[in-house]
Amino acid sequence: MTVFACAGCGAELTAPVTEVALPPHAHREGADRYLPPLLEPGTFAVDPEPFEQPWRPWSAITPAEAAALGVYAPVDGLWSGPGGAVLLAPGDTRGTALIAERCDGCCASAGDPNLACERCGRTVGARIDDCYLWQAVRLYPRAVRRLPVEGPARPDGDGWTAPPAPPVEPGGWWSDRWSAAVGAALAEVLAASGGAPVAVPRGLLSETFGRTLHRLLPTGDPVRTLGLAGPGFTPAPVPEIALVPRHPWNGAPWQPPSDGAVPVPLDSAVWTYLAFPPLRPTTRLPAGEERDDPLPLRPIRLFEPDRYLLRHRLARLPAVRQPWLRAIYDRLGDRHHQYRAASEGTP
Ligand SMILES: [Zn+2]
Repeated sequence: MTVFACAGCGAELTAPVTEVALPPHAHREGADRYLPPLLEPGTFAVDPEPFEQPWRPWSAITPAEAAALGVYAPVDGLWSGPGGAVLLAPGDTRGTALIAERCDGCCASAGDPNLACERCGRTVGARIDDCYLWQAVRLYPRAVRRLPVEGPARPDGDGWTAPPAPPVEPGGWWSDRWSAAVGAALAEVLAASGGAPVAVPRGLLSETFGRTLHRLLPTGDPVRTLGLAGPGFTPAPVPEIALVPRHPWNGAPWQPPSDGAVPVPLDSAVWTYLAFPPLRPTTRLPAGEERDDPLPLRPIRLFEPDRYLLRHRLARLPAVRQPWLRAIYDRLGDRHHQYRAASEGTP
């Protein structure tokens, strides 16, 4: 396990925490809803994205400079710095003090540096708790040091068995985690499609991936098939485009056995639900007794992948430099297209 300490005075700033993969919804915003903590207590994740001031608009960045930073299509702009901030649940911090005058959000704090080491006063990070953001503390990589500490080992097993994430929330809306995970994975599915139609199995895969692929790719006979592959689930043949789980601990994608399959990493909790959906009752219970064994929740609207995360990931794939994929990227960013798509009920 790890404790993070102030790089200035050495004071311990966190409880012992264990590293996990960055959740797919880390950069997804939740409109005006109050959101829970991004990470489970006792865990932390590293965000590779740069986040430091200054923000540089796209007009100030040359294409060669952007490519060196791993960005291959125009974006609004880029933050500076090397990335590598540490994210953790707010309850896992120790010995920090909030700098109240730097809380910048509309209801609370949206991410400006507002957290200081209580002992030496050095700014070490940001407490994020505004109304549309996931609750988190972000520690700056140059402001803290990692200290290895004794602690409980990982649970038994290889870590691939992730609890499944249900796709629909109790309120009837699609899970934020699903919107984020599918949005990010769609970028790589599009790149793997080669610009040709993709066959998607009926059911939840079609509801979440299929509708967007159908809208963005040409119509006609499918050339490649999208499907699942992963631990305990290896269809034969493996689909040409295989959605595989990311390891919950380190984010590494599972490797399919077939050389011909293109693996597309997907959040492990979402993958587990798709691969091993809960059994549904085959007969209806008598009237009056169904409340004790309700049918699975149905969403109140059609699924929409997170368009921001889809474009964010597409811009960072070298394949987006191909004209056909760049055209899809530009189309996703077109406001008129967004309005028209929303009015048609499709992404
Ligand atoms: Zn300090």
